[in-house]
Formats: sequence, C-alpha cells, structure tokens
Amino acid sequence: KQRDPNQPEFLQAVEEVFGSLQPFLAKNPKYTQMGLLERIVEPERVIMFRVSWVDDKGQVQVNRGYRVQMNSAIGPYKGGLRFHPTVNLGVLKFLAFEQVFKNALTTLPMGGGKGGSDFDPKGKSDGEVMRFCQAFMSELYRHIGADTDVPAGDIGVGGREIGFLYGQYKKLSNEVTSVLTGKGLVYGGSLIRPEATGYGAVYFADNMLKTRGDSMAGKRVVISGSGNVAQYTAEKAIQLGAKVLTVSDSNGFVLFPDSGMTEAQLAALIELKEVRRERVSVYAKEQGLQYFEGKKPWGVACDVAFPSATQNELDENDAKELLKNGCFCVSEGANMPSTLGAVDEFVKAKILYAPGKAANAGGVATSGLEMSQNAIRLSWTREEVDARLFGIMQNIHENCVANGKEGDFVNYVNGANIAGFKKVADAMLAQGVV
Ligand code: NDP
Repeated sequence: KQRDPNQPEFLQAVEEVFGSLQPFLAKNPKYTQMGLLERIVEPERVIMFRVSWVDDKGQVQVNRGYRVQMNSAIGPYKGGLRFHPTVNLGVLKFLAFEQVFKNALTTLPMGGGKGGSDFDPKGKSDGEVMRFCQAFMSELYRHIGADTDVPAGDIGVGGREIGFLYGQYKKLSNEVTSVLTGKGLVYGGSLIRPEATGYGAVYFADNMLKTRGDSMAGKRVVISGSGNVAQYTAEKAIQLGAKVLTVSDSNGFVLFPDSGMTEAQLAALIELKEVRRERVSVYAKEQGLQYFEGKKPWGVACDVAFPSATQNELDENDAKELLKNGCFCVSEGANMPSTLGAVDEFVKAKILYAPGKAANAGGVATSGLEMSQNAIRLSWTREEVDARLFGIMQNIHENCVANGKEGDFVNYVNGANIAGFKKVADAMLAQGVV
C-alpha cells in the first residue's frame, strides 16, 4: 500500500486474493518463505512508452502505452491489451495480477501480463485506429514474441485492432509467428476464440447450477455490457434455453420482454456494435425495446447475472438488490466487476458466485489453444475447439470445488485463488529467487 498508494484497483485485487489465502497460508507456511508473497505482487517488468500518431485532421496526438509483464513462472506472459481512456498503470497491474492466477487455472502453460493505452477508439475513424495501432506496435514489438509475451484483445481491442497490430508486428519483425491471439481466421486465428469468454462464462454457470441439480434452461438472465463478452454470453445462454433480459453500455441498459432476447435480436446487436459501432440506446430504438438511460441492469429480477462490462460495475447495494430479487447465481464475464462489498454479500448469502478469474478464463484458454494450433500449423474444427473449451471450464470448476468446499457450500473465490496460487507459487519456489 505504501508503494502504490494511487493504484486502488490493484490494491483491491491483491486484498481479495490475499484475504482468501490467509487460512491456506497458515496451514502451508512454505508459501510465505523465499519472499514469495512480496515477489508475486511485484511485476517482473513494466514497459511504459509514448504513442504518437496523426489524426484525420492532421493533428498530432500523444497517448501513453503500457505492457505489464507480471509473472512468467509457468509460461510466456499472456494477457490482453485494453484501449480505454480509464487505462492507467494501476488498472493494468490489477488486470495482470488477476491474469496470473486465471492462466494457471486454465491448466495451460501461460504466465500473466496485461497492457494497453489510454487511447479511446470511440468516434475514431478506421484510419485513425489503424495509425494508432501501428504507432503502438512500433514500440511494443521489441518487447513481445511468441515465446516471451503474447498479447490478445480486451476492452476496445477486438478483431479490427488485433489485425492492425499484427500487420505492424509482422512488418517490423519480418516473422509470421503466434505473437498475438484473437487473430482473424484467415491469418492464423482460431475458431471459437471470439465466442470463448462468453461461452465459457455460461458453461461455468451451468456447471455451478449442476451442483444443485439445476441447469441454465429456463433461467432469467441479466447481462451487463454489449461488447465481445456480453454478446457471446447472450448467444450461449439463448442456446441453452435461458431468457436474456438485458444488455447495456456505459450510458444505460436495454430491457427485453419476459420471453427474452431472440436470436435475430442478438444478430442485430452484434451488427450494430461491431459494424456500425453504435450505442445500445440506438439499438433499443431500432428494436422497439425499453431503454433506461444512466441505469445499470442490476435492479431487474433474475435468476442468473453475468456482469460482463468492466471492473467495479456492481457494488454492495447492487448485490443486495440482485439477491432481494431472487438472483442465486453470478458468473463474472468481466474482470473484478464486483466490489469487495458486493463479493461479501454474495458469499454471505451462499449463492453460486464465480469470480472472473475462474468464470471468464475460457477466453485466455482458447487463446492458448490458438497458440497450440499455430505451433503445429494446423487448424482445429469448431467442434474440437468448443469441446476443449467445455472441458477446460469443467476442469476449472472441479478445481474450484476441490479447493473451495466449506461443508455444503462451495466458496468459488477461495477455490479459484488457492488453486491458481498453488500452481504459480510452486513454480516460483522451484525456480529460486529470481
Ligand atoms: P468490449 O470493448 O468488447 O466491450 C466492453 C463493454 O463494456 C461495452 O459494452 C462497454 O460499453 C462496457 N464498458 C466498458 N467500460 C465501461 C465503463 N467504464 N462503465 C460501464 N461500461 C463499460 O470488451 P470485452 O467484452 O472484451 O470486455 C468486457 C470485460 O470482460 C472486461 O472486464 C474485460 O477485461 C473482460 N474480459 C474480456 C475477455 C475477452 O476475451 N475479450 C477475456 C476475459 C475477460 P461502452 O461502449 O459504453 O464503453
């Protein structure tokens, strides 16, 4: 706290993990030796750089670029790039810290990292986004590589941005390697990668529901966000027979009728967000749906909630409201969407609550599968990748249950933190003080 007083999100993420590790560490003191805990919160390397580019008016713009290389104990750094005006070092350190444990949970050999910029893609032309991505990669390329650090997408970085970043990396390095994931299908991408985070979050919820003899079928579902994760959470939920009642953006939320969003409405949402890059208020108008400006969807009665927008979007009061209205399952598509107060409420109420590092690990897991396919220079079918994703989510669920069981209740927060920590910590201890 003394070292990073201005990084509240990072401190929050560390507090959550260390809080749930306390009893485990008391029983396993070897993990408090060799400066392990002090080392695990300190990034192995942080790169910060100037990104200057020229906008459509011929004006020079300057943004700040970052890559946090947090931990490589179990594999090359792996984690997304975020382009959003709220990006700063503290936010990226929280994301990189979470990523370390999440990647360990996937069972694949990936370390943790995160990066991005305070660049805001909203309202920028394709040309501006391309020039920014090229300028960003002109510096980043010397710090990453298929065997050292493999970035992917996150908020504000989707297929379009990955394409521009990859093109520039290839030009500068003269190498066609698996240096980014989330690539387009025609140049080394994997089937199911765009869908993976959302699908994985729904598979995880379904696994949790199964522990109570239940399933997603017929459930009333509330989703926040309308980006990559939200879209494919909605798709899988609909496929499994659930009723999707909301989507949102940072301006407000859209309410669907009790029968839920239809497949045609989802297709229209994806077109609106990914092709026209419009707001959900426009979507509501076009679809004749109710829209609530300035509101979050947590007041809508539901069985299952998928927070899929951003960090700290769901606070203690929102959690109480969800519980009061009958919500008994929360599967986090976003990273740390619930505040510490909200997490407390969910755990106290003993509902099925899965933190992002478990529930949204399907995205990075499928990125790992993209790296594997690139390495063997083969592409697996949609069915094969989806089956592997399904198996990985099931495995993460079992691992959380094994490490988080408290009598009849499964504390998925403790389960995920302990399982992820053990693997990384064992690797760090084995490799000495480095
Ligand atoms: P997108 O950029 O595709 O979509 C982000 C969505 O969240 C948009 O609807 C956006 O609305 C909303 N949002 C962003 N910032 C805010 C904010 N400050 N307040 C309210 N709403 C906001 O990103 P993704 O769908 O990829 O990412 C969503 C979350 O999932 C993030 O937490 C990300 O870290 C996490 N995640 C993503 C993975 C992936 O594979 N993409 C993997 C694992 C986790 P608006 O347009 O108004 O900004």
